[in-house]
Amino acid sequence: MEKRGILLVVSGFSGAGKGTLMKELLRRYENYALSVSATTRKPREGEEEGREYFFKTREEFEQMIAEGQLIEYACYVGNYYGTPKAYVEQQLEQGQDVILEIEIQGARKVKERFPDTVLLFVSPPGAEELKRRLTKRGTESPEVIENRLKRAVEEAEGIEDYDYFVINDDLEACAEHVHQIVRCEHSRTLRCGELLHDIREELKAFSK
Ligand code: 5GP
Repeated sequence: MEKRGILLVVSGFSGAGKGTLMKELLRRYENYALSVSATTRKPREGEEEGREYFFKTREEFEQMIAEGQLIEYACYVGNYYGTPKAYVEQQLEQGQDVILEIEIQGARKVKERFPDTVLLFVSPPGAEELKRRLTKRGTESPEVIENRLKRAVEEAEGIEDYDYFVINDDLEACAEHVHQIVRCEHSRTLRCGELLHDIREELKAFSK
């Protein structure tokens, strides 16, 4: 039987480069599956249904909540965002490490519900760099950028709820760092129950 995958939550200020970091992780390693969230936010230019998000109306989203289809959901700067349950469960079961790229309220809910989730916070090297990245993206109005920067101040207060804090300065180095964290997490004795059981049984057979 496959060893169950790890549920990895990645959060970070809007503009921290999480999306690019996740793409780099998926490109380099085969053990990751990225969960695609549902949202009521409008698609940005270049975003595709089912690739970046499942784009929903408010009514559709509220129906997903009512039907218990989401692991968690949160309201972020005026829109709903949530994680569909079925895909995550299926991938974990198959031994894939599943990444949820979600904000801090959602991260807390997932950890509450599944305490062995690994929470990782990604930050750019500094606040100036964050503003520069948000502005450079060119997809949001100055008002939205300002709201996201305000939100970053609140989010910064919650970073201690996370298990790991990584700086995304050099993309490749950061992807490698995150991958090593996940590898180490796999070696926790708590996650190795079956292996430990097998080894104990084999040892017992020797001593008979
Ligand atoms: P964006 O609009 O920039 O794509 O995402 C805004 C914020 O929502 C980001 O911090 C992103 O990580 C978060 N987010 C995306 N999907 C989900 C989700 O399924 N649940 C929660 N709680 N947050 C999400």
